Amino acid sequence: MEQTKPKLLLHTCCGPCASAVIERLVPRFEVHCLWYNPNIQPQAEYQRRLEAMRTVAEAMDVPLIEAERDEAEWEEAIAGLEEEPEGGQRCAVCFHYRLARTAQYAVGHGFTHIATSLGVSPHKNIEAINGIGRRQADGRELDFVDENFRKHNGFQRSVQLSKQLHLYRQNYCGCRYSQRQ
Ligand code: SF4
Repeated sequence: MEQTKPKLLLHTCCGPCASAVIERLVPRFEVHCLWYNPNIQPQAEYQRRLEAMRTVAEAMDVPLIEAERDEAEWEEAIAGLEEEPEGGQRCAVCFHYRLARTAQYAVGHGFTHIATSLGVSPHKNIEAINGIGRRQADGRELDFVDENFRKHNGFQRSVQLSKQLHLYRQNYCGCRYSQRQ
């Protein structure tokens, strides 16, 4: 008899990074993807990245939940941190904002585990991201999958899958402040 896999909500930051993480998690979990990235600006770029994520979800046969883009609330959350360099306090708040919503959604929809594709990019501080993910899971009776998805050529695999699936790959993190940098 086939064993039921634990239900995992994967916060996906973009299609390319998500592709390699989904591939790694699917053997162990029932993976559902959550698109929640109100930080991506402008709207046209947001749409391009969302389309790439839809392509990945369809190709890998996993459900994709598309949360609303509450850009104004995200701007409020990072207010005062606009001039921070990439990797600074604005990014810590941005990670927290997206992972808090992921954990809230997971609790309300019967998930036992959460994870994020945010750490796949070599430009990101994976320890900081995983620390935030763990704190969001703690106290909510959720388990955060505390893995370094960059290990075992995770980033290279995301590049390979992106080519195979003809995915759009962005050249800045997401917000207009990172675009400026
Ligand atoms: S640079 Fe990236 S992680 Fe940092 S605030 Fe902007 S979108 Fe968020």
